[in-house]
Amino acid sequence: MIRAENLRHVYKSSSGDKVALDGLNFSIEAGEFVAIIGTNGSGKSTLAKHFNALLLPTDGKIFVDGLDTSDEKNLWHVRENVGMVFQNPDSEIVAAIVEDDVAFGLENLGIAPEKIRERVDLALDAVNMTDYKKFAPSKLSGGQKQRIAIAGVIAMRTKIIVFDEPTAMLDPQGRREILEMVKRLHAQGKTIIYITHFMEEAAAAQRIFLMEGGRIIKDGTPREIFTDAREMKRLGFNVPVATELAERLRRKGFKLPQKILTAAELADALNKLK
Ligand code: ADP
Ligand code: MG
Repeated sequence: MIRAENLRHVYKSSSGDKVALDGLNFSIEAGEFVAIIGTNGSGKSTLAKHFNALLLPTDGKIFVDGLDTSDEKNLWHVRENVGMVFQNPDSEIVAAIVEDDVAFGLENLGIAPEKIRERVDLALDAVNMTDYKKFAPSKLSGGQKQRIAIAGVIAMRTKIIVFDEPTAMLDPQGRREILEMVKRLHAQGKTIIYITHFMEEAAAAQRIFLMEGGRIIKDGTPREIFTDAREMKRLGFNVPVATELAERLRRKGFKLPQKILTAAELADALNKLK
């Protein structure tokens, strides 16, 4: 579905070249949920922009749905297949009324007006924002704006959705809502690529890419990635709170399994010790 071959990206500027992606090789299957974590400047956003040809490789290639993104005749099909949700909801809102904002991408696809209305209604329903249809986006909270941005992508019916730190500017409640929505989209069969610096969110994915200095230095399941809490700390990452707590309890002599990711798993494991 998505395949990168020696993908490189170099930003050129008067102050010198910056290698942002340093030869990435990976493939992502249809329907996978991949989280991308990495310290600031490790290349996550640069990679995100290669999935829908907002940026093109300096070297190497990336194929989306089998199509080389750098081939101009594929651009339309690539963009039709990949929806993007970015960090700052304010920069994504383009219209003065919620329903027009959700319809924006569809109007550009030349879809009939009654079909557009139908799709917009379904998308607003999917993000629980039907009541806000006639609202001005400026009146909404950050979390609600982000849900509108997601509705816009849902309405486009892309197979792949790329999220670049969509919850970074939200409060915990807003974050939970967005993550629930992402999980639901995955359950419906979408391919999800989800950049985050919240380890609890990354733990919800099936697979994690850990980026450092423009490379993917780890590629594994959340259990594989987070099990080694010490190694993660060394790399400058936290592990999910439940993983950390299980680790501390183990050091105090509790006989807990090695691979705990969630509060529910920890509660179950402790319950078994009773
Ligand atoms: P991340 O999203 O992981 O924080 P980015 O992909 O935004 O990382 O950036 C990767 C590297 O590329 C950083 O060193 C950053 O400073 C640099 N970079 C990002 N965008 C540009 C740009 N438009 N011009 C020059 N350098 C850039
Ligand atoms: Mg970024």
